[in-house]
Formats: sequence, C-alpha cells, structure tokens
Amino acid sequence: MATSTPERGTADSGQPAPDRPPRRDPRLGIVVARPFGIPVYISPYWLIFAVVLVVLYATSDQTSRISTQGRYIVAAAFVLLLYASVLVHELAHCVVARGFGLPVRRVLLYPLGGYSEIEQEPPTPGREALISAAGPAVSLAIAGIGYLIARAIPPGLAHQLVAQLFFANLVVGIFNLLPGLPLDGGRIFRAGIWKVTGRPVAATTTAAWAGRVLAITLVGFALVGLRERGSFISGYWLWLVVIAGFIWIQSTQAIRAAKIRERLPMVSARTLGRRALPVSASLPLAEAVRRAQAAGARALVIVDHEGTPTALVSESAVQATPEERRPWIEVGSLARSLGPELVLSANLYGMDLIKAVQQAPASEYLLIEPSGQVFGVLAAADLDLAFTGV
Ligand SMILES: [Zn+2]
Repeated sequence: MATSTPERGTADSGQPAPDRPPRRDPRLGIVVARPFGIPVYISPYWLIFAVVLVVLYATSDQTSRISTQGRYIVAAAFVLLLYASVLVHELAHCVVARGFGLPVRRVLLYPLGGYSEIEQEPPTPGREALISAAGPAVSLAIAGIGYLIARAIPPGLAHQLVAQLFFANLVVGIFNLLPGLPLDGGRIFRAGIWKVTGRPVAATTTAAWAGRVLAITLVGFALVGLRERGSFISGYWLWLVVIAGFIWIQSTQAIRAAKIRERLPMVSARTLGRRALPVSASLPLAEAVRRAQAAGARALVIVDHEGTPTALVSESAVQATPEERRPWIEVGSLARSLGPELVLSANLYGMDLIKAVQQAPASEYLLIEPSGQVFGVLAAADLDLAFTGV
C-alpha cells in the first residue's frame, strides 16, 4: 500500500508575505506539530482514512501470519510510519525553500498525501528544481536506509515493518518523480523547460499538459489492471483512478493559471480605467447620472469646492437605487470616501496592479497621473472581467 501524490504549491497569486505568523485556520484541520516552526495540519478526513487503511492492512495477506491483535498493532504502526514518511518528504521541500528565503506557510496532510504551502514562486529554475527534488530525494533516502536495515535484521515483525516502509518510500519517491504537474517530477521538468527557453509560463503549460498525459496513462494502467486480474496492478486500479483524477484536476488548474499569468502583463490600469465625471456631493443622483451619460463617462467622482476628489461613487449602489428615487438622493450618499489606499497610479499594470488591489479590496479606485491629475476610475469588476474567458 503506497500513499502518493505529495505535492506542493504556492499559496496564492503573489500576495506579500505576512510579517506575523499566519492565523490558525480550523477548516484545514488540526495542528499536530510545528517542526522548524512550520504548522502541520491534519485534515479531519485523515483520521477516517487512516482507520480504513489500518483495517485494510490488518486484513491483507501482509499480516496473515500474525495473531489478530498483533495484526492491528503492526497495521497501525505501518500507517503512522507511512504518514511520517510523507511528512518528512514535505518538510524536505519546505526546508530547502526556506533556505532560499521563500516563506513557508504550512504543511497539510491529506488522506492521499501531503501539501506544502510555499508563499512565493522560486525566482530561478535552478531553485525550483532543487526545492522539487528535495522531497523525492528524502523519500528515496529513507527507502535506501529501510532496505539496509531490512537486510540486517532477521525475519519477524520488525523486519516486515521496515520492509514495508522501504517499499512505501520507494513508491512515493519514484511516483513523485513522474514528469507531469502537479508532481515534483513535473516541477523539475518545468524548471528544465524554463531554463532552456527562458519562458516560465510556457514551461508551466507544457509540464501541465504532461500531467494530463500522465493522468490518462494512469487510467490506462488501471484498465489493464482490471482486465488482467491477478497482475501486480489489479489490486490498485481504483487507487490509480483516484490519483489520476487528482492529477488531471490540478494540471488543468495549472494550465488555467498559466493562461492568466500570460494575460497579466497586458492588464493595465490605464487601459481598464473608466472616464470619470467630477460632481459635487449634493448633486441629485439622477442629474449626476444624466450628466455622466451625456459626457460619455462611466464613473462619478465626488469633488470638493476646489475640485479635489474626496469620494468615489459606488456603481453597484447606483444600480441598486430605483430610477424613481434617484432625483431625491444626493449622489454623495452613495460614495465611499477616498482614503490613500484607494488612489492608484494610472501607470500600474500586471502583478503590481493586482497586489495594489489585493491590499485594499474595494469596488472602485481613483486612478491618477504621476502629476497628480485625475485619470479616471478603475472598477474592480472591469479587472475581474479582464481575466474571465480564460
Ligand atoms: Zn513532493
């Protein structure tokens, strides 16, 4: 029995690393340990799955020569050692990533494997390859040590446990080196293409497609296993299909994310910005909307007597106001006052623009020229729209 698909990834699309330790998130499960200060979460499903694994193992051929009580002890020890191996595999990724100065948020242990949340993408293909290789390298090292110990000790319970641990780590190590995203091997493959072509996004797409091919191949193996009963893979066909499903879903997500990344540099505040009409806060909403339409403006900015912007009118609030009420409402009552976080440079684009928007979530932002002049209004809805259809 081998647990596979330990994988790892960046937590989100480039949000700055928080200075304080991340808060505990109960939805992720419970924190069972903090090796190197990295919180390790165990999913609630894990316990159920671990019990199933123990029963499966205890009732399998592996333990048929042991007493009933002994079987369950051996099975529980095996399952714990298996997950400890997965954890060590994940920690290897984390420690190397940290060595390169990349913050590690947490490690999650799922029934099917582990997941390391590293908060930033490695800046170079070489580092990406090293972080990715660290996990399988440790798994194979544990397998090697297990093999040597198994050879040195006489047959018996301890021998059987060590031999199983050797086998599990061997499978985890080799399986994760298969060259398709989201597996470690896929990341190493991606790093190689990145190094050769200098194009990280194209490298992601290629390695993610390799992941899809891998998923289909695994399903193919599962079908062979189903047809040829008694062969080595026949007992693992369902397992292979589940893992293939995970790989397919995650490689598809990687392809999607790569498309968004490709589009990212072309997303600029200046091209998305709406023409804005300056109005005074006391103007009736109906009149403000009429003037905006006449001027071809799609946003309203509240200005004071000197013409300085003080607030942004919320488009959704305007739309939610029935036509018949609009003459009786002052436009200023539907505006959000303009804090410095809502003022962005019209020159922002790409990741810098996304970061600025993520730091101060709002529906509208004021765009200004470097001279301080108002350029227009950026609607968050327009920014979202720029990424849809991907
Ligand atoms: Zn890994």
